[in-house]
Amino acid sequence: EEAQRVQKVIAQAGLASRRGAEELIIKGRVQVNGQTITALGVKVEPTDTVTVDSIPLEGREKLVYYLLNKPRGVVTTNNDEKGRRTVLDILSDVNERVYPIGRLDYDTTGVLLLTNDGVIANQLMHPKSRVDKVYIAKVAGIATDDKLAPLKHGVVIKGRKTAPARVTIERIDKDKKTSMVRVILHEGRNHQVKNMLQKVGLPVEKLTREQYAFFDLTGLQSGEYRKLTSPEIKRLK
Ligand code: URA
Repeated sequence: EEAQRVQKVIAQAGLASRRGAEELIIKGRVQVNGQTITALGVKVEPTDTVTVDSIPLEGREKLVYYLLNKPRGVVTTNNDEKGRRTVLDILSDVNERVYPIGRLDYDTTGVLLLTNDGVIANQLMHPKSRVDKVYIAKVAGIATDDKLAPLKHGVVIKGRKTAPARVTIERIDKDKKTSMVRVILHEGRNHQVKNMLQKVGLPVEKLTREQYAFFDLTGLQSGEYRKLTSPEIKRLK
């Protein structure tokens, strides 16, 4: 085997993209045979030991990314004090220590990303990333534009005003006195959609997240999950 550039070795181990590996090197997090390198041109032989943060490449987990159609009746936290089923129980054949990006309530269904890539997870969860989250709520009551109007400007929940949301009426069932409402948010506060709709007198009976960023539920039944494709992972970054 021939000598290879360090960033290529790191990328092939699945720890980062080529570009990401270059950043690790520039930041001084990569060692060759115990010596920190910061130049991008360094080549290594198969007999050289490459470490990131002093941990050998083989000892590190590959970065993995999953999309789950979360069913009702599972929690998004890693371990629930009440011992309820968690989303990680569903991904039981995944060996890496993944965790959910953001949360969905116990009874909320729909799009949930899981990864062990902390950089991406933090980026996406940061309010500034302005990731679109699209929810469909079944509410008790007849939704009207007037009733929903305050949500377009923001309502005060727990002392803090919500950011303007896009809200549309999808369907009204006059007999059952229920409505389907679509809510698009950038924020991700606890129980936010439920609290917002409750605030305008339309309590939520069912909630589904149809989209997160550019991900939707196409091809995934409730409880099913899949790996993200590499173009999807690139697009996320
Ligand atoms: N808003 C909620 O109220 N619940 C969720 O699970 C997600 C958003």
